[in-house]
Amino acid sequence: MNKFILAIDQGTTSTRAILFDRKSIPLYSAQREVKCYYPNPGWVEQDPLEIWVSVIDVVNEVLVKANITMKNIDSIGITNQRETSIVWDKDSGMPAHRAIVWQSRQSAEICERLNDKKELIHSKTGLLINPYFSASKIRFILDAIPDGQKKAESGQLLFGTVDTWILYKLTMGDVYATDVSNASRTLLYNIHELKWDEELCKLFNIPLCMLPEVKPSSCKFGYASFFSNSVSICGIAGDQQAALFGQTCFKEGESKNTYGTGCFMLTNIGDKPILSKNGILTTIGWQIGDKITYAFEGSVFIGGALVQWLRDEMEMIESAKESEKLALKEKDSNGIYIVPAFVGLGTPYWDNEARGAVFGLTRGSNKNQFVRASLEAIAYECKDVFEVMKKESNLELATLKVDGGATANKYLLQFQSDILQTIIKLPVCLETTALGVAYLSGLATGYFKSLEDIESCHEYQMIYEPEMAKSEVKRRYDGWKKAVEATRLFK
Ligand code: ADP
Repeated sequence: MNKFILAIDQGTTSTRAILFDRKSIPLYSAQREVKCYYPNPGWVEQDPLEIWVSVIDVVNEVLVKANITMKNIDSIGITNQRETSIVWDKDSGMPAHRAIVWQSRQSAEICERLNDKKELIHSKTGLLINPYFSASKIRFILDAIPDGQKKAESGQLLFGTVDTWILYKLTMGDVYATDVSNASRTLLYNIHELKWDEELCKLFNIPLCMLPEVKPSSCKFGYASFFSNSVSICGIAGDQQAALFGQTCFKEGESKNTYGTGCFMLTNIGDKPILSKNGILTTIGWQIGDKITYAFEGSVFIGGALVQWLRDEMEMIESAKESEKLALKEKDSNGIYIVPAFVGLGTPYWDNEARGAVFGLTRGSNKNQFVRASLEAIAYECKDVFEVMKKESNLELATLKVDGGATANKYLLQFQSDILQTIIKLPVCLETTALGVAYLSGLATGYFKSLEDIESCHEYQMIYEPEMAKSEVKRRYDGWKKAVEATRLFK
């Protein structure tokens, strides 16, 4: 019988189900949008039941589209928006509060109160004290619901990131667990000792009994009894780590960058959790068997969003695609630098107050050069992250594997390769997040035999090699550095 791996990809804007075969080809997919609620400025919430129903819908739809039943499924992998926090009642299985989404700032005050603990928190978790991560969101929820703390301490309430919630529902309450990659984003998990950290739980006053069991990313979590008593869930990973795995960055020094609205760069740093002094996060990539793989993570807030801005606010282009055509009409960007600090600057600057700026305009500057400079700006921002990762990991970082919507832009990727002086690889399957958990799940069941087996069927559609002279790279990147410095002075 033809068997497939079913990957469930629960993202911030939508939930998708994708069926993969042994050659890593995404054969069928289904998608449902998931609503966000914005009850106050800066607050972002979702309905946990809507998330769960969207999972049921996409799984059913993809089976119908492929004209198969659960009998044709080898195993299920779950990947998810990370850090988003859900608390539910153990007996009824019903949510006790809306899910607080990773982007939400509603627990900022809780984090501010703990600012003097930031070094302790960084040393244990590899993360920064920030409302982005789960711990302060859990605290917020326990404070918001009547008798929240008391109920949590009595074991009545359970917390989970979205993977845990879906796993709990799919197994009809039998399995209450998460994987190390998701646990490592909560701000409560000690990435050295590989356990929930009692001291951190005390800091946030979160009882240990409301935290799930932490398991490897590739193992038998339990049966998806809601759909079938014979199909098991065997892979779980947070979306960015899943993408690192889906890009087959299995070895130390292999990196991936996702060019979406923002950019997320992750590097496999091997089996030791190196801590950064420059705002790079250290996180757990995955665990297979006893082996933990750690990763560096850096983020750029405005990536493809700069192209959207050119289209929607500046009206310089009609579509994102047109940006490439216009950029290629010019031989260079004529000395223009755009620093897209619309919402501050991410890694490695972590400057919330900086705002966007343009440098180097002359009477001869034109729209096409402006568009070209915008694409180059995305590449410079990513180089800033890449260079810090290279320095702090002490690794070579010889290739960068890429995915995300903006990788459709060949000019962007060639310029990225030039400015990084690094080979860039674009895989055939751009669904790297879903593919990552399909791999993790298939490895646990033997559907995929080994990492080598996976690598052998992983194909690339484009490989970009650096063509720019080193002296030219230096001249241009020095210009960018000056532009960022000047931008940060203007506050
Ligand atoms: P997200 O998952 O963050 O929604 P996607 O991976 O779907 O992002 O990518 C969408 C982003 O890619 C948008 O910001 C869009 O401007 C950008 N994008 C799409 N096509 C191109 C293109 N050809 N050139 C440059 N940017 C593009």
